[in-house]
Amino acid sequence: MITVGKRISGLHHVTAIASYPQRNLDFYVGLLGMRLVKRTVNFDDPGTYHFYFGDIRGTPGTILTFFPWPGVRRGHRGTGQIDATAFAISPNSIGYWLERFKDKHVAAEKTAPRFGEEVVRFTDPDGLLLELIGSSSFPPIELWPDSSIRPEHALHGFHSVSAALEGYERTAQLLTQSFGYRLIDQSGNRFRFASPDETAPGRMVDLLCLPDTQAGLVAAGSVHHIAFRAKDDAEQLEWRAHLVELGYNVTPVIDRTYFHSIYFREPGGILFEIATEPPGFTLDETIEELSSKLRLPPWLEPARPQIEQVLPPIKVPAKQ
Ligand code: ZN
Repeated sequence: MITVGKRISGLHHVTAIASYPQRNLDFYVGLLGMRLVKRTVNFDDPGTYHFYFGDIRGTPGTILTFFPWPGVRRGHRGTGQIDATAFAISPNSIGYWLERFKDKHVAAEKTAPRFGEEVVRFTDPDGLLLELIGSSSFPPIELWPDSSIRPEHALHGFHSVSAALEGYERTAQLLTQSFGYRLIDQSGNRFRFASPDETAPGRMVDLLCLPDTQAGLVAAGSVHHIAFRAKDDAEQLEWRAHLVELGYNVTPVIDRTYFHSIYFREPGGILFEIATEPPGFTLDETIEELSSKLRLPPWLEPARPQIEQVLPPIKVPAKQ
């Protein structure tokens, strides 16, 4: 058995599907105060955008990405997909966010506390379920000074994702026996797993066991996949060999320019990725320049005129 010396420390990014790019930008930059860290295209469908939102530099564990496909149909929630994506905020910011959502006419509700922390639930314009969780332990991330949200209320990277599963045992096994996660809490049908790296952003995954729920449909308003992080290419190759040996059908390493990726479906049907931390978003832009221009990978550069012609114009919202 190939064992991986390293453990997974947390999420790298979460990728979801949106419909209209401008509406998506207005929500994540304008309302939530995230930075657009990269303006590029979907490498598998270069006539459409791929947006990356995160902290000032797109630190792994803070990155929410979108494929905006104008007019795409909506998905629906169910098993075999991520049910909710949660960001950490200060416990003192719950009231601020409830007010802000009210002012901006975004339906949001404070739910019952989860494992002792307060939760605000809301959806983005495409119906993607999001949460802000008041957490006293923030991972060390670098906030974006031009954000429309003051630092004390800013999003501090991923708190956790909740995965909806018909059964949860085999997914739990993958997390504990391979990734090195531990079951740290349980309430009803919610099982919380965390990486041992207590300062890592996005170190928690909740598995929701929903045996009587129908399978979800991944389309607009749903998460396409979640990515965990590997320190470098060598570690990623170890993960690949380990997963193949466990019987997973893993893709070869794919070059995503800003990181390298492998993909496989976990036992509950959710698409998982393992992405390398390097080289990161400052590969082709300085930290100040991030997202100021459309960036294309070298193999798409020759088609730039055609790509720019089909992409809808967008404007990154100013501080508001
Ligand atoms: Zn990805």
